Amino acid sequence: MKIAIIGVGSVGSAVATAVKNTGLVHEMVLFDRDGVRARAAAEDLGHAATFGFDVKISAVNNYRGIRGSDIVIISAGANQKPGETRTDLLQKNAEVIRDIVPKVMANVDPKRVILILVTNPLDVMVMLAQSLSKLPPSRVIGTGTMLDSARLRTILSRQLSVSPQSIHSYVLGEHGDSSVIDWSSVTVGGLSLDDFCRQTKNPLTAATRSTIEYRVHNAAYEIIRGRGATWDGIGAAVSDLLRSIVNDEHRILTVSTVTGTGSHVLAMSLPRVVGASGVIATLNPKMSSAEANALRRSGRIIQKNFSHL
Ligand code: NAD
Repeated sequence: MKIAIIGVGSVGSAVATAVKNTGLVHEMVLFDRDGVRARAAAEDLGHAATFGFDVKISAVNNYRGIRGSDIVIISAGANQKPGETRTDLLQKNAEVIRDIVPKVMANVDPKRVILILVTNPLDVMVMLAQSLSKLPPSRVIGTGTMLDSARLRTILSRQLSVSPQSIHSYVLGEHGDSSVIDWSSVTVGGLSLDDFCRQTKNPLTAATRSTIEYRVHNAAYEIIRGRGATWDGIGAAVSDLLRSIVNDEHRILTVSTVTGTGSHVLAMSLPRVVGASGVIATLNPKMSSAEANALRRSGRIIQKNFSHL
């Protein structure tokens, strides 16, 4: 398994580290328009690799070097500065995707390659990359709300004193400010959230739920304020997504892919089954009418942003 990572800043490096530690790939090539940065990252990661799984890591200084890649991860582009929203990155990162995707497609096998998008604003970049690459939507996958869902699970785990492994909970819609917490589909140890709270005598009041929503929606802003950018969480999310693809695990992940055609085209996160061929199926989660309305609103925001390109 050979993978390429395009854009080796904070996120690309964290992705490379997390993927390297899975032992799932035998070769990883790194490309960045800043060649010095890519070479330095490859050196550092190569040294780290001597302590773990055998993976060949190298920097390439042109797109021919990504030939033979099964999966290409795109993590290039501007990140949010303190106070900036993901949507503020729209025009400059669209230029980055327009630059990268045709060059990637000229050097990979379109019959089997899978593109993983990380660049923000994520859902719009997925739509743009899918239309530029002309790949089937099932093979252009954005990390979507995987990270938001992980943040929700972490917060719920602390609140309920239960391992995150025993909690199924999804954040849906835009990977951005309009994302929606699907409270109706949360299960803890197979019980609905309400049942679990009743049995453990640990009620989750409306005020606590809205504090949790606030914390999920603001997690990235707080991390960016504190350490300048976010990278570890997304590195782990990409590596988890990659694992489901490489091992054909058919896990259900909240990733973003394009659905619909014409004026109905949209990429946003829903629970989707992910395996070796990419996204295999999409689920319609249980939602209240308020949650379904919020999800439709989130979709409209993504479509509006896409229309500005
Ligand atoms: P960064 O500034 O540290 O790194 C970006 C890298 O992209 C730089 O090394 C730059 O040289 C490279 N680059 C820019 N344009 C390029 C091009 N045309 N070709 C090749 N390389 C190019 O930024 P970062 O913190 O690593 O963030 C990268 C992206 O990931 C941002 O858009 C950020 O918002 C996004 N991000 C997404 C998530 C998510 O959940 N999807 C989470 C965190 C960050």
